Amino acid sequence: MIPFNKPYLHGKELAYIADAVSSGKIAGDGAYTKKCHDFFEQRFGFKKVLMTTSCTDALEMAAILLDIKPGDEIIAPSYTFVSTVNPFVLRGAKIVFADSYSDHPNIDPKQIEKLITPNTKAIVVVHYAGIACDMDVIMELANTNNIAVVEDAAQAIDGYYKGKPLGSIGTFGTFSFHETKNIIAGEGGLLAINDEQYIQRAEIIREKGTNRSSFFRGEVAKYGWADIGSSFLPSDIIAAYLYAQLESLDIIQARRKAIWQRYYDKLSIVFENSAIKLPKVPDYSTNNAHMFYLVCESLEQRTSLIQKLKDNGVHTVFHYLSLHSSEYYQEKYFGPELPNSDLFTDNLVRLPLFYELTDEQVDKICSELSKLVC
Ligand SMILES: *Cc1c(COP(=O)(O)O)cnc(C)c1O
Repeated sequence: MIPFNKPYLHGKELAYIADAVSSGKIAGDGAYTKKCHDFFEQRFGFKKVLMTTSCTDALEMAAILLDIKPGDEIIAPSYTFVSTVNPFVLRGAKIVFADSYSDHPNIDPKQIEKLITPNTKAIVVVHYAGIACDMDVIMELANTNNIAVVEDAAQAIDGYYKGKPLGSIGTFGTFSFHETKNIIAGEGGLLAINDEQYIQRAEIIREKGTNRSSFFRGEVAKYGWADIGSSFLPSDIIAAYLYAQLESLDIIQARRKAIWQRYYDKLSIVFENSAIKLPKVPDYSTNNAHMFYLVCESLEQRTSLIQKLKDNGVHTVFHYLSLHSSEYYQEKYFGPELPNSDLFTDNLVRLPLFYELTDEQVDKICSELSKLVC
């Protein structure tokens, strides 16, 4: 069976973990966390980054930093993972869902405009599959209406919009190092802070509401309870694993892009005269090869495709049930129908894409798919 995903060691992960342990310090903010922070700030030019235990946690920090409270409204896509919005629901906000484009799961800025009210506090965008949302249009809308923008860049490491790194454009960018993403640490995340005014408070919120970071820099004489907060910082063991992956970022990315391109080249021929669609990449975005997906014509077609591939040794998956019609939110949702979100909910299927997937395996998957077409 070709699995859908497989976590892997690329280089020095285990050696760095052993090194962290032997240094005598494996709690948060150790030597490897610092190395990861430096890497992200230098490579992508983020003003300030803080590692977290997940992208979900980075989004929770963003919600706290924006002082989200009951009565506030957050605009977000419906076709996304629950963590895009759950952190804002935890603060009491109402989620106003916006539809995707008809030909891409990303949020359609034209849908956002209609949903802005005086209560709108933030727009949370998701760069689906690492493909950029149309950030110039979204930032313009946000700036005119004095609304913050959070980029859920969980899938978007090493992705760019018109040359700008994803996660560096909004007020905050949040990343994930979950084992299914491009660069992994098992579980792990990162908050990028692009507006200086939030840096100091972010450090406090991440350290259980204490000013411990300032204390260690010698800025205050003692540390204590300064604000609300939680334990958002990961162990240095996680950072050690992550740092080894970051050192190999270009190699990992090159391999993923080669796999993506191989799928694309072969499947453009396979599906040339078929209703099944391949992923689209707009001119303003790079492709970080996070995901290779197909869009089927119907739910029945997708169900049968997944089953037939499974019978022939290929594990594929679908994901994201529109959040506005989820068990938890459907009773709370009074907005318009979101047909494009529902379309991807029913029709999108993801093919295996991980670093160790071989060309032979890609060819086998494409050949199984070609048997399904004719
Ligand atoms: C993976 C993912 C998350 C959650 O990341 P964690 O690190 O598992 O918390 C959030 N949003 C999107 C779009 C994701 O793909």
